[in-house]
Amino acid sequence: VTWLVTVTPVPNGGRHDALCAFQDITEQELIGSFRRDFVANVSHELRSPLTTLVSIIDTLRGAARDDPAARDRFLTAMQHEAQRMARLVRDLLSLSRTEAEERRRPTTPVDVAELARDVTDTLRPQAEAAGVVLELAAPPGIPPIPADADQLTQLLQNLIENAVKYDTLGRRVTVRLCPEQAEGMLRIDVADQGEGIEPQHLPRLTERFYRVDRARSREQGGTGLGLAIVKHIVNRHRGRLAIASERGRGTTVSVFLPTA
Ligand code: ADP
Repeated sequence: VTWLVTVTPVPNGGRHDALCAFQDITEQELIGSFRRDFVANVSHELRSPLTTLVSIIDTLRGAARDDPAARDRFLTAMQHEAQRMARLVRDLLSLSRTEAEERRRPTTPVDVAELARDVTDTLRPQAEAAGVVLELAAPPGIPPIPADADQLTQLLQNLIENAVKYDTLGRRVTVRLCPEQAEGMLRIDVADQGEGIEPQHLPRLTERFYRVDRARSREQGGTGLGLAIVKHIVNRHRGRLAIASERGRGTTVSVFLPTA
């Protein structure tokens, strides 16, 4: 707990009295330090591709100037770094939008089964190119639920892209829709048969820029913001997120969304 103590002298005849005010500023302190960490992280994430770009430009102007093969290689590397920055900016915008909208609960009825079919159909070629089978299991007759269709699309995209990226073992990703009548929730599971995640990482996965293996996430084009965005989307829908994982067996991310 952080206290702000203000002492004001109070004249009282010949005596020196003082008024002490105690204010609990723990929350402001936390918000301040959270913001500073976030800005430091964003700066770091942007600085490293920029540093690479600057050094490639130097090389192109110097040593690689008259070597067409090297020039091509360096241009590809530049494109790679620029795309990385573009992905980061895209995810930062998406994060701030979802955060800003969190208070307004969506009300439009959305057919989640149809939406999940569209998303899996769109991502299947990408999954297959990575050698992963992507399947959808949805029982018939799931009623529409109040949701933001664009955000649910993004949520599923983020979860499926992660599952495909990190499923290096089973090569099978399953999206399952399970209505849970008792709780009045629709559960959406995205399950992979990848290497899984050690339990100590699980509580921190939805933090911005938290990655189990930083180098690997970067190499695979990750920004470290995917699950943070998912968490905000789930919060906006007043839902719940659960991640279950076993080392060597795979990971299942479950999203619970209220049906009414
Ligand atoms: P990234 O862009 O790095 O994938 P995310 O926020 O989407 O960022 O995920 C955070 C981290 O959680 C990832 O870097 C990865 O270490 C871990 N992770 C997420 N999904 C999975 C998964 N299905 N299997 C194993 N690890 C995962």
